[in-house]
Amino acid sequence: MEDLIKDQYGLLYSSELLLSIILLVFIIGVVANLSDGLNEKMLSEEELSSLENIAIQSSDYLLSNPGNPENWEEDERLNNGIVSKKIIPGLAIKNKNFENGEFYSESSSDEMIMSNAISYNKLIKIKNNYDSLVNENLFNGSVKSSMAIYPLNSEIRPIKMGTDFDYEDDNVNDNDIVTVNRTVKCDFYSRFAVYNFNDLELFGENYDDGLCNHDSNPNLTNHENDERSLWLCKNFRVYKESLEEYEYYLISDESVKNSGTYWILESLNRTHENKEMLNQEVIELNPFLLEDLENSSDEIYSIHFNVPKNRISDFKTVLVAIPNNMTDVLISNDELNYDYFRVQDVNFILKIGYK
Ligand SMILES: [Zn+2]
Repeated sequence: MEDLIKDQYGLLYSSELLLSIILLVFIIGVVANLSDGLNEKMLSEEELSSLENIAIQSSDYLLSNPGNPENWEEDERLNNGIVSKKIIPGLAIKNKNFENGEFYSESSSDEMIMSNAISYNKLIKIKNNYDSLVNENLFNGSVKSSMAIYPLNSEIRPIKMGTDFDYEDDNVNDNDIVTVNRTVKCDFYSRFAVYNFNDLELFGENYDDGLCNHDSNPNLTNHENDERSLWLCKNFRVYKESLEEYEYYLISDESVKNSGTYWILESLNRTHENKEMLNQEVIELNPFLLEDLENSSDEIYSIHFNVPKNRISDFKTVLVAIPNNMTDVLISNDELNYDYFRVQDVNFILKIGYK
C-alpha cells in the first residue's frame, strides 16, 4: 500500500511536470509568434529587384569565371576547412573542348573558358567550405544563399549546399527568395577518364581504331571486323610510379552485361588470345598491371573489345585512373559508376535571400 501511494505521488508529480512543460512551450510559442508578427515584413519591390540583380550577376559570375586565384580549388588547405580570404570561387572550366562525353584540353587558346560548363571538383570544394567561400568571400556576408545541381540523368544524385531554404521556418517568406536556374554541363569525374570506349556508337562501321598489335603479329589472331562484330583496340602506357598514385579501373554501364562484349587486356610483352566476357561494371586493373611492372619502370598495355554489331548501343565503357586518395570516397559514395565519368547536363540552381 505504501508503495502504491508513492507511485501515485510519483505519477502526480510527473503529470504536474508535464503540464508545466506544456504551459512553458505554449508561452514560448505565443511570445515567438508575437515577435514574428512584429518582425515580419515583405520585401519592397526595390529590395526584391536588387536581390534579383545579385542572384543573376553572381550566377553569371560563377558560371563564366574559373575563380581567383587560378586553380584555387587545388589549395590543399581547403581540405581542412582553411579558406584564404583571397579566394573568390568560380565554377567555370578553362581551356577545354567538348567531344564524346569528355572535355579535352585545348592548349592553343589559353584564355578560352568554356561557357556554361562547370567543374565538379570546384563545386565539391565550395560545398565543403560554403560559408567562407560563398557567404563571406563572394557575398561579403550580405545575404544568405544556397546552391544546388540537379543532374538530368537520374543515375546521378543532386548536390545541395548552403542555407536550406525549404527547411527554414523562421520569418523567411518564399516570395523573399530569388532563384536562378540554368542548365549547364558538369564534368563530374570525366577528368579521370583515360579512354572512352563508346566511340563505336558515334562512328559505327566506319570507325578506324588505328593499330592493333594483333593485326601485325602473325602469331596472333587478326582483329579485323567481321560480319557480326567490331573490334575496338587501344594502347596505353603505364608508369610504375603512377600505379602508386592511381587506381586503374575499367568501368562499364550496366547495359554492358547485355551487350555480349568480349575483352582482352595484355601487355605488349605478354600478349594472349583469351578473350573474356565483359559482364562486370567495375573491374580493378592494378593487380594485372602490376604483374608487368615488377621489373620495369613502364609498360605499354593493349586493351581490345569485341562488340556484336547489333549491341553497339549497349557498349559503354571507360578506362579511368583515379587518384588513390579518392577511390575510397568514390566507393563509399557509390560514385564508381559509368555515369559519373561522363560529362552530364545539370540544372544549376542558386537561391538568395536577405539575412
Ligand atoms: Zn585488337
